[in-house]
Amino acid sequence: MSQGTLFIISAPSGAGKTSLVRELIESVDGIQVSVSHTTRVRREGEVDGVNYHFCQAPAFEAMIERGDFFEHAKVFDNYYGTSRQAAQSLLDAGQDVILEIDWQGAQQVRAQMPEAVSIFILPPSRAELERRLSSRGTDEHAVIARRMRDAVSEMSHFDEYDYLVVNDDFTTALSELQALVISRRLTLEAMQKRHAPLLEALLSQAPGVE
Ligand code: 5GP
Repeated sequence: MSQGTLFIISAPSGAGKTSLVRELIESVDGIQVSVSHTTRVRREGEVDGVNYHFCQAPAFEAMIERGDFFEHAKVFDNYYGTSRQAAQSLLDAGQDVILEIDWQGAQQVRAQMPEAVSIFILPPSRAELERRLSSRGTDEHAVIARRMRDAVSEMSHFDEYDYLVVNDDFTTALSELQALVISRRLTLEAMQKRHAPLLEALLSQAPGVE
């Protein structure tokens, strides 16, 4: 079985990444999200083992020591990381895998797996980003200003990515992501592996033909 493709998807908070990725994996077969480990507190509605593997800092640090992480980073004071086992077992099973990670993790993955495909999702405007970040529970000016600063800092890495998607209209952004995933499956290399018997049969000479 041929290996799946590894997709890195990054975005600032407020770009709509989580909703887009959820719809993407529901609408395209054979693609899954790798569940990360984190030390941040679980938010209401999040399920351990589904949204994240939630753990304490000492356990996370022990995993770093053992070399269990494919990539890991400190993002906004919490640890986040992708375990080697989580991503590799899915890829080996022929699944395409999405890593929803920040720019620091993306750099580490590219260094180890240059064939990974990286996508950055942008909001449609600064005003819309501010509006989305403001409607997250608190209107405190300092909190929103901090979120904007974090978002701008994440977005400053956009040019390290292979593809950019602007999430203005959700349906359009989703079809762009679907197109990226499907097109990777149609490359010469992927098709040669998947359709080796077909290609051999098509190219074999018919009896009596020189
Ligand atoms: P949140 O706490 O809102 O779920 O995620 C905060 C940030 O951490 C997002 O930018 C998200 O992409 C990033 N993140 C989530 N999981 C991982 C991971 O496994 N590795 C890295 N490097 N970043 C992650």
